[in-house]
Amino acid sequence: MRIVVKVGTSTLTHATGRIRIRHVEGLCKVLSDIRNAGHELVMVSSGAIGMGVGKMNLQQRPDDMPSKQAMAAIGQCELMYFYDRLFSEYSHVVAQLLLTGEDLREEKRRTNFINTIFRLLELDAIPIINENDTVATEEVFVGDNDTLGALVAESIQADLLVILSDIDGLYSADPRIDPTAELIPVVRELNPDILAFAGGKGSSLATGGMATKLNAASICMKAGTDMIIVNGAHPEILYRVIDGEPVGTRFIGRKPE
Ligand code: GLU
Repeated sequence: MRIVVKVGTSTLTHATGRIRIRHVEGLCKVLSDIRNAGHELVMVSSGAIGMGVGKMNLQQRPDDMPSKQAMAAIGQCELMYFYDRLFSEYSHVVAQLLLTGEDLREEKRRTNFINTIFRLLELDAIPIINENDTVATEEVFVGDNDTLGALVAESIQADLLVILSDIDGLYSADPRIDPTAELIPVVRELNPDILAFAGGKGSSLATGGMATKLNAASICMKAGTDMIIVNGAHPEILYRVIDGEPVGTRFIGRKPE
């Protein structure tokens, strides 16, 4: 299988912006094992701004663009430094790709990106993608990494996009507030009932929320790629995802007739 795994800021960092060592170590171990089993793996990782905030000991995520971009520049190094070290423990090589929306929209740049990814996969490297936050202003950005994950999955015709989140999947209501909220195991169509389940964003350092995840699902489903939302707190869940067990919420990609 060709799998894109998107990991969010809330899985990677504590509320302080400092790295969640347990999650990140576990994740790199499981992903290395999945790669060893022969699957093609591409990561889309958030966390640059959050880790920049943690490294600089700021009290909160800044709002102004230059400060956010500066935090991304600082945090992206820290992020890749961790990935590089942890994946090397399992003899894997990582590669950093920083993209903006324009790189995926403009044909020539998109082709270059796709060629690079495929070459990296041939070389047995693990591409790790993030938005190029230091230059991505509103006119050119993708805006959130759920959507970026879906655009990457679509571009490389992945079989599956896994979104590791701080929630177990899509619920009928916000389970943090409403005890009657039910997990939706499978979504075959993004009808108005499903779209109504999208709430606000999850944590103070992160960008996405259920709305961006449903947007990502819409891109994947049209491209014929399955997408699954699972809780990233226990990375071993990825083994169950690969084995096709019913975990989290699976959005079924439309397969050609
Ligand atoms: N690119 C942002 C970062 O690395 C995250 C965007 C997102 O999580 O959607 O901090």
